[in-house]
Amino acid sequence: MGAGPASLTVARDLAPHGYRCVVFDGDPKAGGMMRTQIPKFRLPDRVIDEECGYVLDLGVEFRAGTRVDSMAALLAEGYDAVFVGSGAPRGRDLDIPGRREAAKRIHIGIDWLSSVSFGHTTSIGKRVVVLGGGNTAMDCCRSARRLGGEEVHVVVRSGFDEMKASPWEKEDAAHEGIPIHNFLVPKAFLHEHGILRGITFDKVEARYDSKGRRELVPTGEPEVRFECDDVIVAVGQENAFPWIERGLGIEFDRHGMPVVDKATMASTRPGVFFGGDAAFGPKNIIWAVAHGHDAAISIDRHCRGEDVGKRPPPTFLLVSQKMGIHEWSYDNAITSDKRNRVPLKDTVIALKDIRQEVELGFDARLAFAEAQRCLNCDVETVFADRLCIECDACVDICPMDCITFTANGDEADLRTRLRAPAVDVSQDLYVSGTLKSARVMVKDEDVCLHCGLCAERCPTGAWDMKKAFIQMTHCGDVPRVHLPKLPAASAVAEAAE
Ligand SMILES: Cc1cc2nc3c(=O)[nH]c(=O)nc-3n(C[C@H](O)[C@H](O)[C@H](O)COP(=O)(O)OP(=O)(O)OC[C@H]3O[C@@H](n4cnc5c(N)ncnc54)[C@H](O)[C@@H]3O)c2cc1C
Ligand code: SF4
Ligand code: SF4
Repeated sequence: MGAGPASLTVARDLAPHGYRCVVFDGDPKAGGMMRTQIPKFRLPDRVIDEECGYVLDLGVEFRAGTRVDSMAALLAEGYDAVFVGSGAPRGRDLDIPGRREAAKRIHIGIDWLSSVSFGHTTSIGKRVVVLGGGNTAMDCCRSARRLGGEEVHVVVRSGFDEMKASPWEKEDAAHEGIPIHNFLVPKAFLHEHGILRGITFDKVEARYDSKGRRELVPTGEPEVRFECDDVIVAVGQENAFPWIERGLGIEFDRHGMPVVDKATMASTRPGVFFGGDAAFGPKNIIWAVAHGHDAAISIDRHCRGEDVGKRPPPTFLLVSQKMGIHEWSYDNAITSDKRNRVPLKDTVIALKDIRQEVELGFDARLAFAEAQRCLNCDVETVFADRLCIECDACVDICPMDCITFTANGDEADLRTRLRAPAVDVSQDLYVSGTLKSARVMVKDEDVCLHCGLCAERCPTGAWDMKKAFIQMTHCGDVPRVHLPKLPAASAVAEAAE
């Protein structure tokens, strides 16, 4: 149900195992909100076509332009399992004076964006106010700039730092000359004979009570007024399931959300699963994809008559990066280079055409420079206590003083006895088995640079730098693993160490 990222992932995982998958969507093309909401200047159609094509070409039947109006009727068709990935399609409205009278030029953000995406809306007034502080608001204001909005303002109830929009989305809006006004609560739409003229706001400030709870309190200053031709309301999204009849065994909570198991994606009716925005409210694409993978495992198990609660574990492997005594398969020089910004298209050109992709991406030189900043967090220091002769060479060379040989003790005590006291208690200590001198090696993982100097210096190979591979399980009996293979016995022994 639905051809967004959640459902497409389910189809992608099940189709190669011989399942006949049918995907229904009310829209004419696959992609869900990636196609109807995310503006083309951020995500062009050709990318969505290519990605969705990979899935649909697996032999998936796509019933485009087919809305499902009754879950009961769908279940009656006798599918072995149903996955609901219908998203969170309803935009919240703002019920303040003047809303009904000036309705013609007041738009609900996600409806307006899909109308723009389908080409039904191609222009907007010169003066636009966008209400809301999330990513949808950022997409609305930037789209409005491209459709004729010359003075576009974003107005938000809360403070700038509390806004839900990602920092880079706010940066991009600022880059396009869109001011963001904070701590203003909408009061009334102003209109003359049904024609929108503006909107007024009360000024508020944040106050915190003794428990740290924040409240927005009016400052008592005069109301703030914006003259405008259009207002776009982007103050949140909601789920809506008018097409799922009650009494089918699919339970909903008091907020109207389906009761869904977070691990299996199962609803309260066996054989019906939810995922993506439909399951737990609006989030993002990668989240929806993760739900799809989990649901596909469940559907596979359900169809085989197996317990969906039993989850196959992910695959984990540590592989040495040694290519010689002083050479690693990764570049371990430590630098403090700043992040490279993704180059953007010239704003004058970008603002002329809503389909003009803004981010140019890295060229080969910048991509290489950016990749060189990798901190190699996936390469771990692995210690084999049976090989250590306690020569202290690694202790001497470690630039961060993170290795200590000492008597064992409880964690709180150990933390104070390290060469550099381990103050971040959220980071585990790495404690070896007992060494020949009855001491242990203790390493403070928090400060390790993954520079590999300990492993280069160690005369016995007790330290090694190993890359960790984690492959989350996909559906099917055997997880699809594309990793270098170690002989089974040594893999087990090394993992134990
Ligand atoms: C403006 C905006 C910008 C966003 N930007 C980003 C971003 O930059 N990065 C990011 O990761 N996420 C972004 N998101 C969020 C992201 O788009 C969603 O989280 C994601 O698409 C959810 O995927 P889904 O598969 O759960 O549902 P959706 O993508 O919502 O797909 C649901 C599909 O189900 C169909 N459908 C619904 N009901 C029925 C029915 N009864 N019958 C038939 N078909 C039906 C709909 O037509 C739709 O195609 C954005 C969201 C919005 C609103
Ligand atoms: S990798 Fe570098 S920082 Fe980490 S323990 Fe070894 S020498 Fe110290
Ligand atoms: S350099 Fe190697 S052998 Fe020497 S103390 Fe460190 S781990 Fe042990």
